Amino acid sequence: MPRRSFSVASAKTEQGRAILIEQYRTLGQQIPLMYALMFIDAAFLSFASYGTVDPVLSIGMPAGLAIVAMARALFWLGRRQAIPDPVSIRRYLIGTIYAAALLSLGFGGWGLILFAEADLARRTCIALYIFIGAISCCYCLQSLPRAGRLVLLCGAMPVTVWLLCSRDWFLMGLGINMVIVSILILRMLDANYSGFIEVLTSRSEMIAEQRRARHAEQCAHELAYHDPLTGLPNRRALAEHLSAMIEQRGDDAGFGLLVLDLDRFKPVNDVYGHPVGDLLLREVSARLIEIVGAEGGTYRLGGDEFAILVHPSDDGRDAARRVAHRIVLETARPFALQERVHHIGASVGIALFPEDGSDRETLMRRADVALYKAKELGGGQHCAFAPRMDAEIRRRSVLESEMHEALAGDAFHPHYQPIVDLATGAAVGFELLARWRRGDDADIGPEQFIPIAEECGLINDLMLKLLERACAETREWNPALTIAINVSPIQLRDAWLSEKILSVLARMGFPSHRLAVEITENALIVDAENAKNTIQSLKNQGIQLALDDFGTGYSSIQHLRMLPFDKIKIDRSFVQALGDDPEALKIVRAVTSLAATLDLEVVAEGIEHPATAALLLQLGCAQGQGFYFGRPMSKAEAEAWIAAGGPAEGSPTAMRAA
Ligand code: C2E
Ligand code: CA
Ligand code: CA
Repeated sequence: MPRRSFSVASAKTEQGRAILIEQYRTLGQQIPLMYALMFIDAAFLSFASYGTVDPVLSIGMPAGLAIVAMARALFWLGRRQAIPDPVSIRRYLIGTIYAAALLSLGFGGWGLILFAEADLARRTCIALYIFIGAISCCYCLQSLPRAGRLVLLCGAMPVTVWLLCSRDWFLMGLGINMVIVSILILRMLDANYSGFIEVLTSRSEMIAEQRRARHAEQCAHELAYHDPLTGLPNRRALAEHLSAMIEQRGDDAGFGLLVLDLDRFKPVNDVYGHPVGDLLLREVSARLIEIVGAEGGTYRLGGDEFAILVHPSDDGRDAARRVAHRIVLETARPFALQERVHHIGASVGIALFPEDGSDRETLMRRADVALYKAKELGGGQHCAFAPRMDAEIRRRSVLESEMHEALAGDAFHPHYQPIVDLATGAAVGFELLARWRRGDDADIGPEQFIPIAEECGLINDLMLKLLERACAETREWNPALTIAINVSPIQLRDAWLSEKILSVLARMGFPSHRLAVEITENALIVDAENAKNTIQSLKNQGIQLALDDFGTGYSSIQHLRMLPFDKIKIDRSFVQALGDDPEALKIVRAVTSLAATLDLEVVAEGIEHPATAALLLQLGCAQGQGFYFGRPMSKAEAEAWIAAGGPAEGSPTAMRAA
């Protein structure tokens, strides 16, 4: 610890200020005491010299000194309560040093006069009074050593010098003694002051350390409760606020919890990179704060998920819906970032307290369930929780766990639906459609289980397993017959998809030109870049490509031009509307002429009547598929269908026109 040589610290540094304040405080306690001692000492001196000198000296002088001492003592006593600012303290301390010097000179000078006038016995006594007075004052001024030294110098020095020069052995001995004691006292004064400074320094360091620790704690708290990207409070903060709101709820004031997920955020992130994604999230959070305004608080739960806690109000339900509605509208407006405009949107799930849940977990889970529903309905909308959704979710999770078991066994199996040449009625191939045997009357169709398989990441396994089985089952069929498999949009994100398909074909000895892959239009918008790569690599391996459910999605002619499709499958909704909707007729006509220009084959799905088949042929559709020709069949049924020569009259699988 560095030794402090100053006695009045600087008021500029933090530590200097702490030292000044402590010096002031200690002096405030010591100085009145010191003057009291001085007063007593002066009284004794006055008594010792009474009668030997003029009363002006024995009474007048000490009385004058006592008045000055009392004034100083009162000055300090009056300032004991409040601590002044460091600059004023510094002034007081300097004043104290001067006062110490002057008073000591006065006291010492008076003592010297008394000493000079006294006889030997009294001289000894007077010298001791003066010296004792000086060292006790010096002791009281420990926290201001310069003042202490001056007291010793001005108060005790004159009489000591006199003693030393007195040529009387006794008095000289006393003088020498006083010099030795003074040296010791001065050293002690220095040592005490260093100790005093050291204690103060370590105390102020400790305070600084505590302050640093508090700051670090605040930072940690900030990090733990805030999302660093958007600065919004995070999931943990939401959980705590939610619990607090549930605890302090008013009797009739309900509130809403909204959970929000951005639509089409991932493609922006993937295509333009994470910095743009981050920027977009910040923009979204700013827009959310603006939309929500004073009606609630906004949180970021992670990724592209946010939550809004709508403040309790008498119209809790309406307030929550109002905010959700505004969010859906406002997030659908474009976001302009770095000279590009991004169109996203948001889906919002609403759960209300206390109707939908009286505890935090239930409320959060139910808001999630409602969000899930909003997403399922196509996104870009808000959805309030309803009890039936819970049942639906439970059913899904049961199906999900059953699906894992089913995949391990052979409960999933392929059915084959024929695709025929409309002109000749001869089969050109079969579409593989997944079936799940779940036991008594519990079978569910692919419309239900495929989305679940997609969500829980089982769709690839399911498709590859069915493909493997179909290869084995159809390998021996007429080599001219193709087998078409359906690939979900989500599978196109897998950069290894074509390799996985090819390895099954190679293992099963199934020629790739006999395989067709049907891809729905929507797959092309979800992730255009990945879809394009996968489609190209399938094509390079000689696999045929069909654009499925044409007309239901958003795919453009541009997609058809850019991607190497071999055929278009017109969605069955158009085919089935052909009879009574003139628009459907126009669309089918437009599609066939477009396909002719692009040199693509056209397959019409969902043909249930011979008249439809005839009309489609007339409109330029070369191929058809539907219950009229044959329903999806098991291997054995399909083989019987082939053996019977196709959709003959009386075929068990053909559906006759009503
Ligand atoms: P999709 O690819 O459009 O398949 C045709 C669907 O139309 C099949 O329904 C088929 O049974 C039905 N269908 C065929 N002809 C007619 C008809 O004349 N009238 C009517 N009303 N319907 C007809 P399914 O088998 O229930 O399959 C539904 C959807 O499930 C399929 O639509 C396909 O998108 C999906 N899917 C089926 N199997 C798989 C699979 O293994 N993988 C993937 N990713 N999706 C599959
Ligand atoms: Ca299909
Ligand atoms: Ca289709």
